[in-house]
Amino acid sequence: MAKQEDKFKKVISHAKEYGYVFQSSEIYDGLSAIYDYAQNGVELKKNIRDYWWKAMVQMNDNIVGLDSAIFMHPTIWKASGHVDAFNDPLIDNKDSKKRYRADVLIEDYCAKIETKIDKEVKKAAKRFGDSFNKDEFTSTNSRVLGYQEKINTILSRMGKSLENEDLADIKALIEELEIADPLSGSKNWTDVKQFNLMFGTKLGASAESAMDLYLRPETAQGIFVNFLNVQKTGRMKIPFGIAQTGKAFRNEIVARQFIFRMREFEQMEMQFFIKPGTQKKWFDHWKETRLKWHLSLGLGADNYRFHDHEKLAHYADAATDIEFKFPFGFKELEGIHSRTDFDLSQHEKFSGKKLQYFDHEENKNYVPYVLETSIGLDRMFLAVFSNALVEEELENNTTRTVLKLPAVLAPNKAAILPLVKKDGLPDLAKKIVEDLKWDFNVVYDEKDAVGRRYRRQDANGTPFCITVDHTTLEDNTVTIRNRDTMEQSRVKIENLKNIIKKEVDVKNWLMKM
Ligand code: ATP
Repeated sequence: MAKQEDKFKKVISHAKEYGYVFQSSEIYDGLSAIYDYAQNGVELKKNIRDYWWKAMVQMNDNIVGLDSAIFMHPTIWKASGHVDAFNDPLIDNKDSKKRYRADVLIEDYCAKIETKIDKEVKKAAKRFGDSFNKDEFTSTNSRVLGYQEKINTILSRMGKSLENEDLADIKALIEELEIADPLSGSKNWTDVKQFNLMFGTKLGASAESAMDLYLRPETAQGIFVNFLNVQKTGRMKIPFGIAQTGKAFRNEIVARQFIFRMREFEQMEMQFFIKPGTQKKWFDHWKETRLKWHLSLGLGADNYRFHDHEKLAHYADAATDIEFKFPFGFKELEGIHSRTDFDLSQHEKFSGKKLQYFDHEENKNYVPYVLETSIGLDRMFLAVFSNALVEEELENNTTRTVLKLPAVLAPNKAAILPLVKKDGLPDLAKKIVEDLKWDFNVVYDEKDAVGRRYRRQDANGTPFCITVDHTTLEDNTVTIRNRDTMEQSRVKIENLKNIIKKEVDVKNWLMKM
């Protein structure tokens, strides 16, 4: 556990030190769970967004984009169910005065049991060596089965109680499990209450005429209310999708996990409109497709798992999360939800306008069903960034800190370094910068010894260092050093563009899907 916390602390301080993420309003002591993206962070975030947009919109001729406003008519949130049901169960600790999400306390308790399972598996793997079969072990070992049953019983009871709004039972469960405040150890809890996560604001110049609005808690509703506009003007035929990226706002109860849980964050969502009855097929399709997208980035297949929902949201008939192994354990990264015709039907009811599709093949009108994929851009950023940060032992007994970002996402693709600050090398290096910057983000760096500069770029996540030396003056060749392997080779300046392009080209990465 301590090791995990350590790693997470390193991730947060590295993100600050290397210009990726800053606490918002830092000189005023910050604002809780709000963050700013710095010079490198903004590039990484943009590259992740582009990677998603290319895979979802550019590569699918039946998916188009949208950029709807953050402010929307307040009745939308009544229709969507957010006004009445976008709540989290909160509980306060009477001694520490700290506030928690009751369901998260219970889930964290289960995660601890899961760690015990992992330990048993590791022990057995060591004991049995090559003949170890993990699936067989976890499905037969009595201790593991006991742990798993305990987790299932707890989660299924919590799911039922949340569904029935039985908050007294949630508190009873916390007490029965003897869950203590993780910070103070106290078990002195208040009752569990529901808390609505939407931020309110006002629209209008005078107090009397001002209209109460909400900051959108998800981008999805902007897609639903534009469904017919897009379908008609784009002459879209079912099945088709509408994708959008943008800010969403939630007044989260607990926000102590850096950019994992923010009060202002960005989502990348796609709503796929389908014929009623085909939702199972499309649910499976998007589950598989989205996982492939993740795997194409090479963060390691073992770091992902699906978690099918016990408790379904009010709009869904099936739902799964793609979970990622963050430094604090497996947590939701993306949600895939089969939303039925709930949203469009609700908007028909509340707006009085028909939101139906005429299916020429069936020769009839219907309200389409919807399959949603929804991923947090900031969470994806954290997944990529935390996975990339490694301390590497080198042969000469030293270590190096390297940010092994997928090259396609790295903020800068190459650093151009003159070996020394004289003999015309800086001018030549700057010329290379001028040429490459038409195609890639590149940086020029002449300060310190070249070894220090390599380390700096390693920690920054730059995939290539290009060094201009005295031989360059003679034969127009430079050395190009690979961040991950640290291998260097001598190449012609005129070939640099193609060498870099091959490694950072979105096509080459997405083709792995
Ligand atoms: P959680 O259970 O973690 O609160 P959720 O199930 O409420 O998440 P969704 O409503 O399904 O999340 O939102 C879709 C995606 O948006 C999530 O998978 C996550 O990546 C992202 N997301 C949701 N809330 C936040 C937040 N407060 N900060 C950052 N990203 C978020």
